[in-house]
Amino acid sequence: MKFSQQTSETSCSTSLNDKGDNCCKPQPKGKEYCPICHKKAKGVLGKTLNSLFTPHSKSRLKCLDGFYYCKTPTCKAIYFKSDTVLTQNDLSVSAGIKKGAKPATVCYCFGWTKEKIKDELQQNGKTNALKDIKAKMKNPGCSCEVLNPSGGCCLSDVSKAQKELKEELGLST
Ligand SMILES: [Zn+2]
Repeated sequence: MKFSQQTSETSCSTSLNDKGDNCCKPQPKGKEYCPICHKKAKGVLGKTLNSLFTPHSKSRLKCLDGFYYCKTPTCKAIYFKSDTVLTQNDLSVSAGIKKGAKPATVCYCFGWTKEKIKDELQQNGKTNALKDIKAKMKNPGCSCEVLNPSGGCCLSDVSKAQKELKEELGLST
């Protein structure tokens, strides 16, 4: 018997209605421009959104495929699909890369926030964040696809946060 956990890519993999119809295009490829900040945004998987959207937001949406993730810190849009824009209110986790997010989570798999990195920097002049994350990526492994709003690896966000915090605290980078 053939066994596959993959859902067919030709139909909606995360349909929220019972019909399972072809409600939208498969996973977005390439980039789209955010309707709010007009910067380029990358596509996200339906399963990322399925895991992170609040039940209320899911009830408003027909399908979770075809969304893009806006990573501009000052833009209130977190996800968009054509004219549909989703913000922090639609998410069950804090989008830590957005300005003013509390907590400012940057690594969702292993719980690193900008607050925690800042604490370490203030106490020790350095942070273990990247080392810790890299070690844990090997064991026990990460689940960015369903935990991180970006749907991907957090390392670049963590490096960026670390650099910004060091500058803020006047530490050499
Ligand atoms: Zn945007």
